[in-house]
Amino acid sequence: MKKIIFIIIIVSIVAVVGAHFFKPSSSAPAAQRMQVVASGYVPYTLANQIAGGQAQVSMLLPPNAEPHAFEPTPGDMVTVHKAAVFVYVSDELEPWAKDVLGAAGKGTRVVQLAEGLPQSDDPHVWMDFANVLLMARKLAGALAQADPQHAPVYQENLDHFEEELSALNNDFSHALADCKSREVVHVGHLAFSALAKRYNLKLSALAGTSHDGEHAARKLADLVKYIRARNVQVVFTEEAVSPRLAQTVAVETGASLLPLYTIEHVSKDDFNKNVSYAELMRRNLENLKQGLSCQAL
Ligand SMILES: [Zn+2]
Repeated sequence: MKKIIFIIIIVSIVAVVGAHFFKPSSSAPAAQRMQVVASGYVPYTLANQIAGGQAQVSMLLPPNAEPHAFEPTPGDMVTVHKAAVFVYVSDELEPWAKDVLGAAGKGTRVVQLAEGLPQSDDPHVWMDFANVLLMARKLAGALAQADPQHAPVYQENLDHFEEELSALNNDFSHALADCKSREVVHVGHLAFSALAKRYNLKLSALAGTSHDGEHAARKLADLVKYIRARNVQVVFTEEAVSPRLAQTVAVETGASLLPLYTIEHVSKDDFNKNVSYAELMRRNLENLKQGLSCQAL
């Protein structure tokens, strides 16, 4: 009898301690949670947002890598094969995804987030909140289908995220309505055209919609000429492009530098902190406000 009571006490302690230990991120240990594999940071952060710790989300791309050119390893193929859900942005953004899709298991649900969005030449579709809303709904639907038991959790997290997106759109519209300059000169690739279009900003970028190789000296010279001619005071930078290019532009033109976050890749530090989509977009807004001298209260 004593032995039984002892066992009951031990089991209770383990249960309480266990529940407490896992509570902050999930209601179940990692191994029991649904496995979601994301191509890169955009689907990764959206999946974490919707899953809210209910699924185990991992990312194929290492932090700091950019998604346009990536070579998945055999290990990545195995990871995708075992996943309940594989989520990526699009075949346009991630041409390598088709190799990974071949490895998807019978039980792997594949979600292409950009599928069904309004047609666009720019694959950086998440730079428009209206697109992100549709992407998040699609993802929440897929998670709920793959894991019906937790469908209410995914729906609730989606509802919160929809409110967040609506607040972001209001804040961008309000803050960028009245600015001294509308010139966004970006020493990076053309990742912000949807944002510029939505908020009526004029975007000039160093490269095209992917890191398509050499940032030719002539392109840089053209950009410097443009900055001087338009008397642009602040130039925006991108982490993935060599900081030396941005420094050269700053030295040549006297403009100061502020970063813009593409979100398609993140620093190791931001990855470790699990910085959210909304937080990165708020950093973008702060820097745009400062760089364009916006007047909003
Ligand atoms: Zn890009």
